[in-house]
Amino acid sequence: MKIGIVGCAGRMGKMLVNAVLDAEGCTLAGGTERQGSDALGRDLGELVGRDPLGVPVESDAEAVFRRAGAIIDFTAPAATRIHAELAARSGRILVVGTTGMSAEDEACLREAAKRAAIVYAPNFSVGVNLLMALTERAAAILADDYDIEIVEMHHRHKVDAPSGTALGLGRAAALGRAVALDGVWCKSRDGHTGARPAGQIGFATLRGGDVVGDHTVMFAAEGERVELTHKASNRAVFAKGAVRAARWAKGKPPGLYSMRDVLGL
Ligand code: NAD
Repeated sequence: MKIGIVGCAGRMGKMLVNAVLDAEGCTLAGGTERQGSDALGRDLGELVGRDPLGVPVESDAEAVFRRAGAIIDFTAPAATRIHAELAARSGRILVVGTTGMSAEDEACLREAAKRAAIVYAPNFSVGVNLLMALTERAAAILADDYDIEIVEMHHRHKVDAPSGTALGLGRAAALGRAVALDGVWCKSRDGHTGARPAGQIGFATLRGGDVVGDHTVMFAAEGERVELTHKASNRAVFAKGAVRAARWAKGKPPGLYSMRDVLGL
C-alpha cells in the first residue's frame, strides 16, 4: 500500500514516515509540508534520520493524493479541511489524527466521508481505545452518584485543551450514561463555581515538559473511587495505529470510521 504523509516534518509527521517505512507491504508515496516550511525540498529519509529515499518534501498535497492509496494527516484543523476535500475529490483513504477540530471542521469530514473512507480518531493507540471502551462500560454500570472527572497531561507544546482524547473519553462516558456530552460537560473550573451538579462530566488539563499523553478517568463516589489510567510514553504508538487504520480501510466503502471500528472494540 502506498501511503502519503501530510505535515511530514511535524512531531507526529516524522513518526508516521518512520512507521510507514517500517510497515511490511507499505511504501511512502510522498510527504508534504506547509508553504514556507524549512523542510520543503529536503529528502524524506534524511528528514527522519535515515538513508536518503530520493523523495523530496513537497507542498503540493494534490500530487501526493494522486500517487497514494491512503494519506495520513496529523496537522492542524485548517489543513485537515483542505485534505478532506482532496480525499473526497480523489476517493483516497484519509486517516485523520488532527485534534482541536471544531464542529464545522468535523462537519467537513462527515461531508468528505460520503465519497471517501475516512478514519478519524483523537487517539490512535490501542491502549487508549481500550480505555474508551472500558470508560463507556464503567459509566453505564456506575450511576450518577459516581462523579466522572477526566484528568489529562500533555507536553508544553500542545495547543488545544482539553485534549481530543480527553473529550473522546468524555463522549464515551456520556454514551455509557445515554446523555449528550455537551449537555453535561464542564471543560474547566475557576472562581466561585458552586457545588458540583450530579451527572456533570468534568475535565482538568495539565501542561508541561515532554509528557506524551496521560489520561485518567475517575468515578468518585462517597466512600470509594475507581480510576482508569492510560500513559503513553512514546509517540510511535499513535503512528503505528494510524498505519494500521490505513491498511484496515483498504477496500472499505466511503464512510467516517473510528479507531474502535478498526480494532473491532
Ligand atoms: P506539529 O506542530 O509538530 O506538526 C504539525 C505539522 O503539520 C507541522 O510540521 C506543520 O508545518 C504541518 N502543517 C500545517 N499545515 C499544513 C499544511 N497545510 N500542509 C502540510 N503540512 C502542514 O504537531 P504534532 O505534535 O505533530 O501534532 C499534530 C496534530 O496531531 C495535533 O492536532 C495533535 O494534537 C495531533 N495528535 C494526534 C494524535 C492521535 O493519536 N490522534 C497523537 C498525537 C498528536
